[in-house]
Amino acid sequence: MTEPESQLQNRLKSIPKVDLLARHSSLDGARARLGEAMVTRGAREVVSRIRASLLAGGEEVSLDEAAASVAALCELASRAGVRRVINGTGVVLHTNLGRAPLSNEAAARAADVARGYDTIELDLESGRRGARGGAVERLLTELTDSESAVVVNNNAAAVLLALTALASGRTVLVSRGELVEIGGGFRIPDVLSRSGAKMVEVGTTNRTRLEDYAKAMDEHDDVAAILSVHTGNFRISGFAESPSLAELAALAEARGVLLIDDLGGGALLDLDAFAGLRGEPVARERVNAGAHVVCFSCDKVLGGPQAGAVVGRAGPLARIARDPLFRAVRVGPVPMAALEATLEHYQARRFDEVPVLAMMRRSTEEVRARVERWQARLSEQGFVVETVGLEGRVGGGTFAEEPLPSAALRLSHATWSADEIARRLRTGASPVLPRVVGGSVHIDGRTVLDDEDDALVAAIAAAMAGGA
Ligand SMILES: *Cc1c(COP(=O)(O)O)cnc(C)c1O
Repeated sequence: MTEPESQLQNRLKSIPKVDLLARHSSLDGARARLGEAMVTRGAREVVSRIRASLLAGGEEVSLDEAAASVAALCELASRAGVRRVINGTGVVLHTNLGRAPLSNEAAARAADVARGYDTIELDLESGRRGARGGAVERLLTELTDSESAVVVNNNAAAVLLALTALASGRTVLVSRGELVEIGGGFRIPDVLSRSGAKMVEVGTTNRTRLEDYAKAMDEHDDVAAILSVHTGNFRISGFAESPSLAELAALAEARGVLLIDDLGGGALLDLDAFAGLRGEPVARERVNAGAHVVCFSCDKVLGGPQAGAVVGRAGPLARIARDPLFRAVRVGPVPMAALEATLEHYQARRFDEVPVLAMMRRSTEEVRARVERWQARLSEQGFVVETVGLEGRVGGGTFAEEPLPSAALRLSHATWSADEIARRLRTGASPVLPRVVGGSVHIDGRTVLDDEDDALVAAIAAAMAGGA
């Protein structure tokens, strides 16, 4: 038997009114901090949930209980924006988590510039207008053996800008093996079409030879450039072949066309020698192999803020800097200051100052020792945790086939599922992003920053105790 209509009506009458609920005294703090509108929105949401629950035969809810639900909802909503999280995923360059954390020096310089006025377009010596990003461009030029450099908002913008300025209305040759999607909808054919260049595909998916490029140049008399794309997040193996960058450069030079290299990651040092990670080309080597223009991200293996760099020969770089699109993708003073500080670490060869480089280089033993210290602290508080071996990754579209052996803290609970534990970690006051593998929750020690030990241990304790 369903509930008699009159009884249900009475129960529905018990639902608090939205404005009464929103004015509840326990929400005074939330109203002051988050504003009336947010609290009223929360109250409306809670009222509609109570109604749905009563209609489904649920229990009546007191005004105080409803107000507590509104407070919890507002608290969650107020955390919905961009805020700091602890990365326990073991993925050093995690695009969903903002890729590269900045060094202390880079973060401090960015914060200082953010709070005040700055010299983004001022030369202090003469007091006159200066070139935007002049110092960064000088550093990039030196670090990549280039003649010139410009910085833009990200590497997607760098590639689009280079192609627009140098090849719009003309033909660009690309190997069929390099017509890739980088991620987030960035597809090489789409970018080419948006730049106004005409794409001509050469070779096949697995094999492209130098003759294929030469033949395409014979067939098309308006070739502006060869585009080479470093497909770091995917690899063709087996019966595969492609010309070296130096061979492509020699052909481009002989035919009077440009060689544009979309390098992706933008390593400024040999990461094999530095951290034993193979396969990531170094920007300087691409320039020295003869690429006229090299584009790369500044927040992948370079370890700086979100930005993109275009480096190479003075002629094409001047055309890029004059293009109207350059103004549309320029970098603000805050990331510019952070990038300058990051590049200075490279200039001074203080590589371990760059957090992502230090993370990539850290030995598994070192990571394990740290995880064991977390384990000891949490075990002491009565939590069920253990230290296990785990494989992380560099991520960010780099080192597709290079795992990063690591160590992790494994968390278990008598009744909660792995997903529930992960959700609690994510929604705590200090959010932690764990990695769920094999049905258990892990926190990889490699990607947790040096100064996050106390915050991490406290966040795990709060999440596992079920406290808010
Ligand atoms: C990552 C990547 C891009 C896009 O760089 P963003 O800095 O994310 O805009 C473009 N090309 C290649 C080859 C990449 O790896």
